[in-house]
Amino acid sequence: MSSVTTPSSSSTPATPATAAQVRARLETLRAHDLPVHGGRTLAYVYDSGVAEADAAGREALAAFGGTNGLDPTAFPSILAMEQELVAVARDLLDGPATTVGVATSGGTESILLAVLAARDGAPAGSPAAAAPSMVLPSTAHAAFHKAAHYFGVRPVVVDVDPVGFRADPEAMTAAIDETTVLVVASAPSYAHGVIDPIPQIAAAAAARGVRCHVDACIGGWVLPFLDETTPAWTFAVDGVTSISLDLHKYGYTPKGASLLLHRTPALRRGHLFATADWPGYAVLNTTTQSTRSGGPIAAAWAVVQVLGRAGYVSLARAAREATLAVAEGVRGIPGLRVVADPDSTLLAIAADRPGDAYRIADAMVARGWFVQPQLPYAETPPTLHLSLSAATAPLVPEFLATLGDVVAQVRSQPPLSVPAGLGGMLAALDVAALADDAVLDALLAAAGLAGDGSGISLPDGMAEVNALLELAPVPVREALLLGVLDRLTRPTSR
Ligand SMILES: *Cc1c(COP(=O)(O)O)cnc(C)c1O
Repeated sequence: MSSVTTPSSSSTPATPATAAQVRARLETLRAHDLPVHGGRTLAYVYDSGVAEADAAGREALAAFGGTNGLDPTAFPSILAMEQELVAVARDLLDGPATTVGVATSGGTESILLAVLAARDGAPAGSPAAAAPSMVLPSTAHAAFHKAAHYFGVRPVVVDVDPVGFRADPEAMTAAIDETTVLVVASAPSYAHGVIDPIPQIAAAAAARGVRCHVDACIGGWVLPFLDETTPAWTFAVDGVTSISLDLHKYGYTPKGASLLLHRTPALRRGHLFATADWPGYAVLNTTTQSTRSGGPIAAAWAVVQVLGRAGYVSLARAAREATLAVAEGVRGIPGLRVVADPDSTLLAIAADRPGDAYRIADAMVARGWFVQPQLPYAETPPTLHLSLSAATAPLVPEFLATLGDVVAQVRSQPPLSVPAGLGGMLAALDVAALADDAVLDALLAAAGLAGDGSGISLPDGMAEVNALLELAPVPVREALLLGVLDRLTRPTSR
């Protein structure tokens, strides 16, 4: 978790505000946000550093913000731009002529739809239709768990290779059974930044007549532009049936744009939706949205035009070189290590003393750099995640110098510890008890997080909170996170 600051609440103003007042207020609100430009925010945002592309994206976002993709015949511009983006992606991903695709609001929606289409594609009356499951490497993105939760598809989670953190094709093959509707692999995985052995996984899925989705949400707009030989992962691999790739990550477009491509129209049918069974307009939707802003699609289209293939080649190379340079630099910092050799532009960094990772993250924020803490999971210790953007490339020496300082300072302190009582309490907690608001409030108070009333107050630094979460078993972590989310989003917490 990262620290957040919520604004104080205000009711609808009695007198209309002037444009200048609104602008000033928006600027005040944004003062607590991470910067989206400048190359010092190494997760959540992706910065090309190309002012012309940013301007084109902003302009198109504003110009099309009021358009509605609800009905593709009413705003043909949105359909045209969406299909041009799909065609660009099809070429990047070696898609055959039969390839079709849709633009979605983000990687999660692309993944939700891939899972939905796979579930609904199971033959009627089959065990897969009756009790669908999907085979996931343990490193698959959390969005697959969300899809499992939403759509009633049982996740069958398979351990990855504990050294390289890549999916284990033999174990995945063994996990496929008559209920499997989908097998998943990543190019690359978010947490470790490595590409799964997709040819073997896709072949195993195809041999059983099961779909294989490649999650290239974060690598899809980078890997095709690098000339290094990466393991094959596109539609060039037989058996790959769908691929997700996000425009709003390394496409460097404004938020709200991702693509989902299917090898054939038949594979997509499960997430097309139409209904005429009500008295209103004919509903025909390709995604979970109905009213759908044309803004993010137009913005993505505009940025892709401005950057072009040459632009993406140079941005991908810059980000890749920055990643390799940071990995090299980190190997020279005593107390740190690179968890897996990066296959793309993501890095996971671990500290010798596990709790140091959280403190390093806090200290980096204080020095103007955001790196993202990741809690320990299975064989992986707590890590710091870095997504390197092109805009960070020129700052690598400065980043490494700051990181070196921060690590030395953190290592000079005694190790991070949590109050003994709290640790014991968390380990002994019954997750069912956390459904009770009073129990959760008491726990948050004991952790020093109680706010006014039923609210919550997060500290400036999150190291202690992350260290506490780390002690809790996964179901307790989830219950605590839900409790925090619930309290953060109540009006009384503002
Ligand atoms: C970011 C990401 C997602 C989810 O995408 P959102 O746009 O955040 O919804 C899924 N898979 C991978 C590998 C990602 O990096």
